Amino acid sequence: MENSAVLSVDHLQTCFFTKKGKVMAVDDVSFDLLKGEILCIVGESGSGKTVTALSILRLIDHPGRITGGKIMFGKKNLLELTIRELQDIRGNRISMIFQDPHSSLNPVFTTGDQISEAITAHRSVSRKEADARAIELLELVGIPIPEERFHEYPHQFSGGMKQRATIAMALACAPDILIADEPTTALDLTIQAQMLDLFSELRKKFNMSIIYITHDLGVVSEIADHVAVMYAGRIMEKGCRDDILKNPKHPYTKGLIDCLPSEKGKPASIPGTIPNLINPPEGCIFHPRCRFAMEICRLRRPMPSKTNNEHYVSCFLYGDI
Ligand code: SF4
Repeated sequence: MENSAVLSVDHLQTCFFTKKGKVMAVDDVSFDLLKGEILCIVGESGSGKTVTALSILRLIDHPGRITGGKIMFGKKNLLELTIRELQDIRGNRISMIFQDPHSSLNPVFTTGDQISEAITAHRSVSRKEADARAIELLELVGIPIPEERFHEYPHQFSGGMKQRATIAMALACAPDILIADEPTTALDLTIQAQMLDLFSELRKKFNMSIIYITHDLGVVSEIADHVAVMYAGRIMEKGCRDDILKNPKHPYTKGLIDCLPSEKGKPASIPGTIPNLINPPEGCIFHPRCRFAMEICRLRRPMPSKTNNEHYVSCFLYGDI
């Protein structure tokens, strides 16, 4: 794997301006995505993972707004591009797939037509060439008899096949980056395992970089190269997969790992819930749930400190106070 970042998210902030007050959904988030790697962003529901992903493609709707930071894709800051420039990147250089394939597939067009459309939207090829490429893509993502399935409508596909079709659509223009937001959560376990294999294969085949969003550390252990652990809009810890899973530092990451089912007995759970982000706790945002909380944790926000080459943790138990 080349060690160069294809995407650098730098101090990103995204807020929602609701009637009840300002919700800081993504608060000072920074990470690099390397060429050809799978970066998993993991956290409980409401931790800001999806908003981070949507912010990368500037898909934040009112009352949300990106209020700070930079998102560098090559030499371009995605936050400074015009809508037209951004449309050249969306679905072409950076694609996204969602948990629910229904949100990406239009029920009134055949699946093949939708993939061909995705190709002709960004490439000057004939419809015949686009159709041939669409059939190749359906085959690539593991859809049997692709020449026939090309002519079928989304309702004729099972859940797993629909998700494969949305992946084919996302790959239509051979993007540099694929963002996958919990793409296997709605699928049964066998199909989930097949889909994870598919993501690993695609990464290898195209040397594509993938941001994979999940709440499931089991998925992380299967496919991640690097991991960013999010909680209440902030990154608590990030590093390579083995450092995060085998040598976690942050009490929140340790709590998530303790929640994994094991043969030793009932999994633990992290006491408490994600705080109200309209009135977040002062200091370390995890302190109301942290059994190691100290006085300083209630007063000051911990900044990321490096524990080894690539492993960063935002916690007063590590680094200088
Ligand atoms: Fe716990 Fe303090 Fe570390 Fe936050 S900074 S995780 S409260 S020990």
